[in-house]
Amino acid sequence: MAYIPFNQIVDALTELDEAQKQLLLKILQEPMDNQSMVTGKLTTLEHIREACFHDGLRCPHCLARGSFKKNGTYRGRQRYLCHTCGRTFNDLTGTPIHYSHYLDKWPLYLKCMEQKFSIRKCAKEVGISIPTAFTWRHKILHALFEIKEQSLEGIVEVDETYILSSEKGKRNLQRKARKRGGVAQQRGISSEQVCVLVARDRTKQTISEAVTLGRLDSMRLDQTISSRLQPEVIICTDEEPTFRKYCRINKIQHEKVNPGKKRYVVKEIYHIQNVNAYHERLKRFLSLFHGVATKYLNHYLAWHQFLDQTKTLQSISRVQEMFLHSLQQPMKTVGMRLSEYCDLQLLKLVS
Ligand SMILES: [Zn+2]
Repeated sequence: MAYIPFNQIVDALTELDEAQKQLLLKILQEPMDNQSMVTGKLTTLEHIREACFHDGLRCPHCLARGSFKKNGTYRGRQRYLCHTCGRTFNDLTGTPIHYSHYLDKWPLYLKCMEQKFSIRKCAKEVGISIPTAFTWRHKILHALFEIKEQSLEGIVEVDETYILSSEKGKRNLQRKARKRGGVAQQRGISSEQVCVLVARDRTKQTISEAVTLGRLDSMRLDQTISSRLQPEVIICTDEEPTFRKYCRINKIQHEKVNPGKKRYVVKEIYHIQNVNAYHERLKRFLSLFHGVATKYLNHYLAWHQFLDQTKTLQSISRVQEMFLHSLQQPMKTVGMRLSEYCDLQLLKLVS
């Protein structure tokens, strides 16, 4: 790197906008050995390999755990031949960064994402096009969304919230576009609203997913949480009949609380304050992006959940966590554009 006189660096600081100053401040506050990871490599190929194959070697094409043979290298990455399907893969096949031409730009990109910058701003900071910044964001978020390791135990608070559906970014809208989120045309809960279900236990394990358009029903509730509840949980909810029905069918202990009747804290430990506070944080987070397209809503919910669960980490550790997490899920969109895949996910909400 060429030597830059200190006074020129100080002069250059006046050119920075507020967000850039904040980013610089954060980088300066990190310990030195972490800085090299921000400016240089995010992590080693060895760590990447460990994250990708955290539960053993698996073929990203046919998902077989069968037998493999080492088959040379590709751009420094180990390549393997799968005996089951006869195809080859390397350490990065199926990960968000596999096809990326600018691997060296990912560390700064992830850092910008950690700062919750808009796609436009990420593109500008990193020096990539807006479509690339968009694709990178959703590759990472897609992987975060696919990680469903949460298993809830003990007291589980469950409540739904509704978010106005949005076709942001879509051409040929069926109706006049709303400005920055806007308001629904129909009163009350309708198919204009996306139902977001949040379940959170007292160890802060959380499920947060868009489950349907319009009102929640017990079938959607069942599909979303049943396989992720440990035995003998106690479910705390408001008086919404859907929850009562679900708990009765599944023979789960159910504690109802009603904020309106000032019985918010029933027997003191049964309340839904944690899940309601989560809803509030989630809505504040979503408002940063001025309305999120419904087909990408689950990506943003996963992002918020990740940030919420890692908020005590230093920002560099968060960036690394996000990166390594995103490597743990082979992309399920192989052979399909990410936006087409998300369109299919949206159909599941509607049907
Ligand atoms: Zn295979």
